[in-house]
Formats: sequence, structure tokens, C-alpha cells
Amino acid sequence: MPERVLRAIDRPVIDHRGTELPPLTAEVVERMRSLYGAASAEIVLFPGSGTAGWESSIANTLSAGDRVLAFDNGFFSHMYAECARAFGTAVDELDVEWGRPVPVGALAETLEADRDRTIKAVLVVHNETSTGVTTPIAEVRAALDRADHPALLFVDAVSSLASIDFQFDRWRVDVAVTGAQKGLMLPPGMTVLALSDRALAASELSSSPRFFLDWRPAIEQVHRGYFPYTPATNLLYGLREALRMLDEEGLPQVFARHARLAAAVRAAIAEWDLETVCREPAALSNTLTAVYVPGDVDADAVLRIADTRFQLSLGTGLGRLKGRAFRIGHLGWLNELEVLATLAGTEMALHELGLPVELGSGVGAGQQRLVEPALVAG
Ligand code: PLP
Repeated sequence: MPERVLRAIDRPVIDHRGTELPPLTAEVVERMRSLYGAASAEIVLFPGSGTAGWESSIANTLSAGDRVLAFDNGFFSHMYAECARAFGTAVDELDVEWGRPVPVGALAETLEADRDRTIKAVLVVHNETSTGVTTPIAEVRAALDRADHPALLFVDAVSSLASIDFQFDRWRVDVAVTGAQKGLMLPPGMTVLALSDRALAASELSSSPRFFLDWRPAIEQVHRGYFPYTPATNLLYGLREALRMLDEEGLPQVFARHARLAAAVRAAIAEWDLETVCREPAALSNTLTAVYVPGDVDADAVLRIADTRFQLSLGTGLGRLKGRAFRIGHLGWLNELEVLATLAGTEMALHELGLPVELGSGVGAGQQRLVEPALVAG
């Protein structure tokens, strides 16, 4: 988190029914629209987290019995499908090896086989945070178009937005969901969605119960600069600051920075002779890297040593990757030297665990990668 964002949050609480809120809301909504790559999508914000965003995407557009297509290619992809099931929808969840992106071929086949057009929505996680895999949403859109299928496209952009390119309009996404605590560089506590006209039309027909997460009153109030509940006003100040910072750096530069830092992390992992969970080089995520440890090692032991000895916070393996993999996050307000420090701490933790990792080797590989002219140029 940037200091500037912390300072923006650290201020007196305003009256959320007073005159200070509308200009703040208007700026945040306009900047979020532009960040999503959306010219005219409706933007709704709810206190909560990414999971609340998932829930609102389902509750507002689908009804019990509706058919949904989802992919189990990681922990969060599976949980999104579970969220849809909780609303009584019939979810076709295609099994995918964890470490691979959404299989566009299987997606196309399923859509083409759906002759009666019963699939109402396709759920895709843009960047699967459990495996460090990015699915190209442009290809998902192309598969829907090729099949000429009218299903709505829901994209979880929780760990991609503001770090990896996202194009709501160009990919004709219908609902995009993100959370505060990743590329938006805020503490947790807010979800922000972008909604297409088709999603809004679906929200008029859904019979699912909804109240707090109902888009309709939220949109109506946001247009006037307010919210139908007490908003997380201090987080809104933080979000405005974060969005201004992203604008000052420039989104292409932000994406290039993430690509650069990710390349350094990958160089270190290769040097340590460890494997990424991601099986396809083209799908490697620029926001985090999940790393397998050898079979006889507990990945959580790497986390424990990193934390207790070096005050370094690595991510645990999620779901079936628990104990088998750990994750290095490289998104948000992060620079080269912070990443090199992370690599140094990870390297020392691996070394202390008895893995054959030579001290300095991964850090050196990361440094080499960071000074390569092509990478420096971004
Ligand atoms: N989707 C993805 C891709 C995530 O990484 C996460 C959380 O890390 C979620 C959804 C769930 O979001 P939250 O934990 O903010 O509820």
C-alpha cells in the first residue's frame, strides 16, 4: 500500500448524507470506469470484499434453475461456481488441471453444443490467484462470438484490475468484479463492479433474493453521488488517491512495471530449480507466482521461516495446493528493490529448510533480468 493512500484514508469521517460525498463519488466512479476500460458501464461499489462482488453478480442477474458455465481451474474459480450454486443455479463446472487457463476449445465446444441457448452466463476468473494463471479474456469473448452464443460474460478481475490490462468494452464483458486490496492498493473492505446494459437488463428479470447487494438502488443513488447504505467513506478517499496515482504513473507503465517484476521473480524460481504451478508460459501471471516445493517438503514451512526469521509474508497454498505450493505476490505499490528483497528472503527460507538453493543465486538472476535493456524499456 502506498503511503499516500494511507494518508488519504487517515482523515476525519465525513457526513455520508452531506455535501462532501457527491464530488468524491463522482470522481471515483469516473476513474473506475476508465480503469475498467469502459466508456459507459454502470459502476457499483459495496462495502465488503471480492466475495460480496461475486454474490452480487449472481444475485442480480440469475435465478434458481438458470444454467451457468464455470471452470474449476483454481481455488477462486471453483469458489465462484460454488457461489452461483448457492443461489440454486445449475452450474456446469468443467474440470481443468490447476495451473492452466480456461480451455477456450472446451468452452467453444460446450457453447456450440448448447443448441437451445440455455446457458445464461459464463464465469471466468481473469487472474487465478491460487495458481498464478491468467486467462486471456479476449479469447473467451472470441469463443462466445464464434458460437454466436448470447450468454452473459462475468469476469472476476479481483487480482488483475489495475495490474494487468483489462478491457471491459473491447471484450464485451457483462459483469466485472474487483476487490480493494489488490491492484487498487487499499486495505480490504470494498468491492467495485462494472455492469453492461445486458447485465442491467438481466437484473430486471432475476428472481433471486437480494437486498444490500441489489444493484438497482445502488445505481440510482450513485448517480446522485450517494449510497443506499452507509458507505466506507474513508476507503473511498483512499480509492480516489489510488486511482489518481495509477493515472499519474500511467496504466501502460503500471502494467509494464508488473511485467518487469514478475519476470524477475520467474528468473529466480528457475534459478532455484523450482517449478511454477502455472503449466503454460504464456499464461504466467504478472501479479503473483505460485511455486511448487519438492514432494517431501511442506510449503507452509517456507512461509513460517520467511515470516518468523525475515518478517516476509508469502502466500499459502490454497485448496488442493495446501502444503504443496507457496505464492509470491508481486502486485500493487511495489518496485524492483522490494521484489529483490522478497527474493532474498524467500531464498534464505528455502536454504534454511535444506533445499539445494545457493544463497544469492535467485536474487542474482532477478537482478540480471531487471537490467536487461528490453525489460528496462518496458
Ligand atoms: N477472486 C480472486 C481471483 C481472488 O484472488 C480473491 C481473493 O483473494 C477472491 C475472488 C475473493 O475475494 P475476497 O477475499 O476479497 O472476498
